[in-house]
Amino acid sequence: MNYDVVMIRYGELALKGKNRDTFEETLMRNVKHILRSFFKVKVRRSYGRMYVELNGEDAFEIIERLQRVFGIISLSPAKVIEPSEEALKETALELIKSVTPAPRTFRLETRRTDKRYPMQSMEVSRMLGGHILRNVPEIKVDLHQPETVVSVEIRTEGTLMSCQTFPASGGLPVGTSGKLMLLLSGGIDSPVAGWKMMKRGVTLEAIHFHSYPFTSERALEKVRDLAHKLTRWGGTIRLHVVPFTDIQTAIRQHCPDDYTITIMRRFMMRIAEQVATRAGALALATGESLGQVASQTLESMNTINHVIDMPVLRPLIGMDKEEITEIARKIDTFELSILPYEDCCTVFTPKNPVTRPKVGLAERFEENLDIAALVADAVNRTEVEEITTKPRELAGDLGLF
Ligand code: ATP
Ligand code: MG
Repeated sequence: MNYDVVMIRYGELALKGKNRDTFEETLMRNVKHILRSFFKVKVRRSYGRMYVELNGEDAFEIIERLQRVFGIISLSPAKVIEPSEEALKETALELIKSVTPAPRTFRLETRRTDKRYPMQSMEVSRMLGGHILRNVPEIKVDLHQPETVVSVEIRTEGTLMSCQTFPASGGLPVGTSGKLMLLLSGGIDSPVAGWKMMKRGVTLEAIHFHSYPFTSERALEKVRDLAHKLTRWGGTIRLHVVPFTDIQTAIRQHCPDDYTITIMRRFMMRIAEQVATRAGALALATGESLGQVASQTLESMNTINHVIDMPVLRPLIGMDKEEITEIARKIDTFELSILPYEDCCTVFTPKNPVTRPKVGLAERFEENLDIAALVADAVNRTEVEEITTKPRELAGDLGLF
């Protein structure tokens, strides 16, 4: 089957005025960006729809890539035809016969935005439905749960017909919600947190605290790989790598064992806030989920949060590990996350970390440290890398979402 266009459907229904323009412009840019290097296609926009003109390129390869572009709700490969009765009938049969496995039930859906067209939507549906029933053996109409929907859109710029719809990721186009700094560890949760925020349209930067030589170069490589997975959903990600060993060593030497994790996290927040400010990000995000571990109680979050003013978003806060894992599998970060490289927290985990740390105590223990100097030194030695999607990884290995 040679399709002419891929039809892109997008939401959010509530968008109005200026927001709608930003949404559409950003989505258009992201769609072009992801297709540009691989295909000779044209992207057009018209009245709440976007189209990729295929120029002979494969519709399904393009659909597979666009399924990961946030802001898109669904995608259909379509034919562009003359709206004559003959052409409509012929194309409807051709389309429905190209679907495998052959559908046993169908429904018609006609939209007519070209009001000059002589037939009403209902009439077109009835005419084509009858034609399909007469010409496709054993097929039946099912209005509620059809195996295939034959959709016809009669528009002034042409008539589009398709009978397959693929779900996409929904959400908002990356770049419509400002910039966020994600605290990215090598674990299961933080990549999922980053993905969920990208789904709400943020441009992501990531910060990772690295404890070389207590943690290996492989552990850092794993974080790069995770960031790389996330780029498939939203372009380049700048990764800030913070040398954290000196701070951890100082904490271990000068603070009580049960408070080391709390104090370490407070340092992470201070550093992340400064790096975020420098990068123009307006909030931080973590992969914390309430009650998951000792450092993720409300008391602990309160004590950790106390040292900064910038908002900390925790998109996984109300989710179970199972729900988080399910997303991690879906976005293909899970297998990487469970690779057994030590991270900076496990290396320094005391036997009995405090589960209800107090702000006052944390502050008292930190008096033994030169906070400002330690933070400034870590910030100054932070290195930035650009993680970008490479054509090789983009091609095909991902399964449909
Ligand atoms: P994750 O699976 O994201 O590692 P976790 O369940 O292991 O989470 P913690 O180790 O308590 O939980 O970390 C809580 C959050 O703190 C992480 O989700 C992440 O956002 C941040 N974090 C932890 N360690 C690091 C690190 N080395 N670099 C950057 N952020 C980190
Ligand atoms: Mg972790």
